[in-house]
Amino acid sequence: MASKEDFTRPAVLLNPLAGEPTDADSHIGGPMLWPIDEPWPWCDGERHDPESPGVPGADIAGIGMPFVGAVQLYRRDFPELPFPEGTDVLQVFLCTLEHTLDDCYGPDVRLVWRDSTSVVELIEEEPEPPVREEIYTPTVNVLEPIRFTEYAHSFDRPEELRDEDWPETSAGTKIGGWTCWWQSGPIEFTCPECGSVQRQMLALATREPSGEDVEWSFGRDGNLNILTCPQDVQHPIRLWID
Ligand SMILES: [Zn+2]
Ligand SMILES: [Zn+2]
Repeated sequence: MASKEDFTRPAVLLNPLAGEPTDADSHIGGPMLWPIDEPWPWCDGERHDPESPGVPGADIAGIGMPFVGAVQLYRRDFPELPFPEGTDVLQVFLCTLEHTLDDCYGPDVRLVWRDSTSVVELIEEEPEPPVREEIYTPTVNVLEPIRFTEYAHSFDRPEELRDEDWPETSAGTKIGGWTCWWQSGPIEFTCPECGSVQRQMLALATREPSGEDVEWSFGRDGNLNILTCPQDVQHPIRLWID
């Protein structure tokens, strides 16, 4: 018999608010702590969708494009994240053009797990993509996290727990918790490298519970979910927009 506790997980709402973070802060859309001697993340353009009406000019297919710094999360602020040994900051980058991902369309994502103490000299200027989709470009926000226990979406619960009075799965930008299925799901994703069931690590949301939206938009006002391998976060990530 399934118990309610089996379908709860800790989660952290990032709760973004407009602000002026520095590279030394956790944030959405602010400056990244990036060393001058390391190549900036760059999209090879292979998965750019030339057909999408949202892409400004089909001729950008097949050319490269710099990623845009989207989220930066320090371990001191978010110890819940699965930081690999020797790292203390997670940096999330988006290529802000339309990509053909696994069965969905959206920005591509690159994760960088970094040791902030090894960064001596910072990049002078972050590269700017010459064209971008405004809907994938975040506003600049500081974070005022809210920690809570999240209950699984009804899609993820066994039959006998579906009728219970149960708090809704949060659709906000969050660490951990459960996937907020809306137009799809439930789907179990497995790691292409080791076969482990991937786990919801970070969701970027179109709509925040606070009403202070980041002004990016994924799918139909949905979430860009980033799932990682529980054995090794460096294994290939899964993106699922719903
Ligand atoms: Zn791209
Ligand atoms: Zn794996």
